[in-house]
Amino acid sequence: MIQRVGVIGGGQLAWMMAGAAKQLDLELIVQTPHADDPAVGVATEVILAPVGDAQATGRLAQKCDVITFENEFVDLEALFYLKNQGVRFAPSLESLKPLLDKYHQREYLASIGLPVPLFTALVDPTEPLDFTFPLVLKARRHGYDGQGTFIIKSSDELINTYNQLKSVPLLIEEFIPYTQELAVIAARNDSGEVVVYPVVETQQKNQVCHRVIVPAQVSLKIQSQVEDLSRHLLNELQAVGVFGIELFLTPDETILVNEIAPRTHNSGHYTLDACKISQFEMQLRSVAGLPLGTANLNCDAAVMVNLLGYEEAHHDYAEKRKTLASIPNAYVHWYGKTESRPGRKLGHVTVKATGNQANYSKLLKIADTIENLWYS
Ligand code: ADP
Repeated sequence: MIQRVGVIGGGQLAWMMAGAAKQLDLELIVQTPHADDPAVGVATEVILAPVGDAQATGRLAQKCDVITFENEFVDLEALFYLKNQGVRFAPSLESLKPLLDKYHQREYLASIGLPVPLFTALVDPTEPLDFTFPLVLKARRHGYDGQGTFIIKSSDELINTYNQLKSVPLLIEEFIPYTQELAVIAARNDSGEVVVYPVVETQQKNQVCHRVIVPAQVSLKIQSQVEDLSRHLLNELQAVGVFGIELFLTPDETILVNEIAPRTHNSGHYTLDACKISQFEMQLRSVAGLPLGTANLNCDAAVMVNLLGYEEAHHDYAEKRKTLASIPNAYVHWYGKTESRPGRKLGHVTVKATGNQANYSKLLKIADTIENLWYS
């Protein structure tokens, strides 16, 4: 029986998982580099070490029954050594292997028949390319919140950005003129049970997610395509855990997969308040071998707005948080980070809606109100 769950990474995702661990009577032991990381104060025990430090993960393994991930920037080769010593990982290292490098991930997704944008590895930016501008240049590893993703409009810009990035392995892909960005959270357990949460719309600015609206305003056909591809992916991977799947909806109503995160995901934060079982509880249920339960909403609709840093400061923004919390049906989550930087995820607000309030344009207005309050 699983009692103690190790988590590689101690940021806000592990912090949100801690609440669910308590409910399920599980202990959470995190490996994270800084004593002021969000999950440090709520974990049963902490290994203070970088996420990529596999020796520290060896020490983590001694304290728990299974290890899961809130962060995929791990040294996979070194973790395989631990696996061969009997350490249990969920998701398995085999299921993470094709996903950690964006180029390998695209190749893998295409190989299992999932639709992806046209892509290629970039070796020499002065060589002729089969892509028209704009195109998208991406660092193959360690990208997050749009860091490492560049929309490139000319070959000069391509060469300049390539030179700035120096020796980082890169890929390029076609720019998708999407009509919507969609996402979905899906989970699978050891018994092969799969659940898929509702399809959401995500809204990005400068490649960073600002808002999530659930359910997405898409046809039943798109919803069932997304559900089918999520099931197919998790079954192919023999995945155990929660996965975030980011998608593009094209003008001709085609779905393309943008990216898979082998963990809980920002696009699923609404599940904490707006679903019967949150994505964090779902991950723990999955890695602990429990039945998954329902991925249904507990309301008709919701909007989640990220509270992103907009200045360099040490500030807890208590007044603003109080004002946000006074919005009807709002749930404010504050990650307790002591330092604010532009673009840093400091917290989020979810507003639930039912009946005639569960209306797309009303939800967008609420998101505007939250952003006006927060960024003023
Ligand atoms: P990250 O790993 O940092 O989240 P992504 O690859 O998901 O990076 O890209 C971040 C954002 O950049 C996407 O949500 C989307 O808005 C934009 N983007 C990424 N790839 C493309 C593409 N091929 N075409 C158009 N926009 C893209």
